[in-house]
Amino acid sequence: MSHQETHGFQTEVKQLLHLMIHSLYSNKEIFLRELVSNAADAADKLRYMALTDDALYEGDGELRVRVSTDKEKNTVTIEDNGVGMTRDGVIEHLGTIAKSGTAEFFKNLSGDESKDSQLIGQFGVGFYSAFIVAEKVVVKTRAAGHGADEGVQWVSEGEGDFTVDTIEKANRGTEITLYLREEEKEFADDFRLRSIITKYSDHISVPVEMWQEGTPETEGPEGEKVEAVEGKWQVMNKATALWTRSKSDISDDEYQEFYKHISHDYSDAMLWSHNRVEGNQEYTSLLYIPAKAPWDMWNRDKSHGLKLFVQRVFIMDDAEQFMPSYLRFVQGLVDSNDLPLNVSREILQDNKVTKAMRTGITKRVLGMLEKLAKNDEEKYQQFWAEFGQALKEGPAEDFANKERVAGLLRFASTHTGTAAPTVALDAYIERMQEGQDKIYYIVADSHEAAANSPHLELLRKKGIEVLLMSERIDEWLINHLTEYKDKKLHSVTRGDLELGDLEDKEEKEAAEKLASSSEALVKRISEVLSDQVKEVKVTSRLTDTPACVVVADGEMSSQMIKLMEAAGQ
Ligand code: ADP
Ligand code: MG
Repeated sequence: MSHQETHGFQTEVKQLLHLMIHSLYSNKEIFLRELVSNAADAADKLRYMALTDDALYEGDGELRVRVSTDKEKNTVTIEDNGVGMTRDGVIEHLGTIAKSGTAEFFKNLSGDESKDSQLIGQFGVGFYSAFIVAEKVVVKTRAAGHGADEGVQWVSEGEGDFTVDTIEKANRGTEITLYLREEEKEFADDFRLRSIITKYSDHISVPVEMWQEGTPETEGPEGEKVEAVEGKWQVMNKATALWTRSKSDISDDEYQEFYKHISHDYSDAMLWSHNRVEGNQEYTSLLYIPAKAPWDMWNRDKSHGLKLFVQRVFIMDDAEQFMPSYLRFVQGLVDSNDLPLNVSREILQDNKVTKAMRTGITKRVLGMLEKLAKNDEEKYQQFWAEFGQALKEGPAEDFANKERVAGLLRFASTHTGTAAPTVALDAYIERMQEGQDKIYYIVADSHEAAANSPHLELLRKKGIEVLLMSERIDEWLINHLTEYKDKKLHSVTRGDLELGDLEDKEEKEAAEKLASSSEALVKRISEVLSDQVKEVKVTSRLTDTPACVVVADGEMSSQMIKLMEAAGQ
């Protein structure tokens, strides 16, 4: 019962296809990573569904991926017996891009192909990467649990549209055949293909197999009979879940490949931590810090979180419950032995096991970052440039770890004289003057405004360092971070600088004298400005500037007022 239809690709898919074909030429072999990765995901999904419905295996529970070539026809085929797709699924998944924020992403491309190709790598090209090497792609698929007559064939030449047709397909799963462009023939070469598959599939937890040709019966050099060897499917990878292997057996390359598989990132991760926890709780975590923030890091709709496995079985993507939101840039997985296999997002929400894991994993990430900051300041700076903004949400979100998160923060300061956020609170404390008991800071609209503020004059004269803050999030941060290691954080724009022991006696007396001799002047200014200000005071905080406006203690700062206004309050 053939039922052919032609569909147009979603606009963004067309743009992606165009860009990919024209700009990903230096890294063509990634199409194999993508397609094998999808096949492995399909196996994971079927295994998960079969937990509650064993019949979906149709008597074939040995999940695997097979890669084969046909040199004559110039084709490469990737075949799996995973979950497969229905007709609607095919039209949706192989005709559109499901990621939220996709349209905006494409709007922001510059048109400069070398720049855009970098971005596109970050975006992740997935299934469509087949068209990097293929002039035509044929997908035959049948969803698990559906009849053999509900197979679907999808065909496209990657130019604007694709056709779908209903076909007979006896085996469940998906078979993708790439008709290679003339100039990409090398990928139909068995040897070449083997070397790529080896590189990209060791971390994949299902067997990835390639056909090993047999040899006919022959005669040996002395006329003896050499028996024929039958052709067979040969497993090309280790085919065990990477995180279950022992750390010492896993190479950096394997960790990086696995990172790319689960994160859809094309670049290497910055660092990772692989741990098995035993005792009250039993779980394994493999956590990665990316080198670059993903394009949709600040997209509110984006789902974040770790991949969740229970006893090696894949359960779900984006399990958000294992990581606080300020660490949402962390990629990776957890594999729990304590959660039930039928765990759902609802059960995860309010669960003792989840909470304990979250606590452990959060500590693990903070530990990774502390170690990085200690051992490799330069790399930590790269990390900070990418993810510092997110980390600044930490003190508000994570009360229990407030102090540890605060220790990881970096700021610009009057000490360095640059706008680069390189100063840690610990470093500030080490440089504090005798008698200084507060950490002074200023928040302004820009770094320049902060650095040139008249509020800094007196402190500068006394050689007291001031942290210079100018990011939108800083006011929010500082509202929740009022203290670090028993030192109060104090805004230099607040009413009283509370210099305490730093105020020397002579200055104080001079100021008092000045105040009493200026009473008449102060009174006049107060009268003139009575509608605008609450109080006029003689101050010793300024050395060069004649006057400045300060916020009374306990009142909202001018930055906070602006923030509230911007938020429509
Ligand atoms: P992603 O893997 O990031 O979701 P892809 O472009 O690689 O994006 O794949 C898009 C979707 O197509 C997948 O999410 C999946 O639903 C479907 N898909 C792709 N390949 C297969 C396959 N071999 N078996 C089943 N579904 C697949
Ligand atoms: Mg994919």
